[in-house]
Amino acid sequence: MSAAAADSIFSRIIRGEIPCQRIFENEHVLAFLDINPLSEGHTLVVPKRQCERLEDLPPEEAAAIARVLGPIARRVLVATAARDYNVLQNNGPTSGQEVPHVHFHIIPRRAGDGLGYRWKPKPADPAVLAELAQRINAAG
Ligand code: AMP
Repeated sequence: MSAAAADSIFSRIIRGEIPCQRIFENEHVLAFLDINPLSEGHTLVVPKRQCERLEDLPPEEAAAIARVLGPIARRVLVATAARDYNVLQNNGPTSGQEVPHVHFHIIPRRAGDGLGYRWKPKPADPAVLAELAQRINAAG
């Protein structure tokens, strides 16, 4: 565990050193409201174990989050009368990750909320996809 990672703001929230609006907690997971919400009910779900990136999170911790994401989202939707939501999870600065502690955003969506993807997908050449799949499969 690096010193910087141990001092992430989410680790301090988990240790109770910084307050949060907690909406779920169990042995492995804490969920609380984002202080800069993109929409009403914007929630962060984090593993209690300090870990910066999803691919480094032990599978049992990832599974613990997967088990509670849907139920937490359901409660947020009921409480905020939203029907839809995005789950977003950033890894690394290029992706937009600001807090170096794995976290899943639950972002309730409402018609006309002005949010939404700005990404612009392009159709891929099937041969390029095939070669890429080969390389990924070879990566183990
Ligand atoms: P990301 O860009 O994926 O790293 O998202 C980090 C999120 O953490 C942002 O949406 C911030 O608004 C949120 N955040 C930062 N500090 C706090 C805090 N003390 N309590 C709740 N949310 C926070």
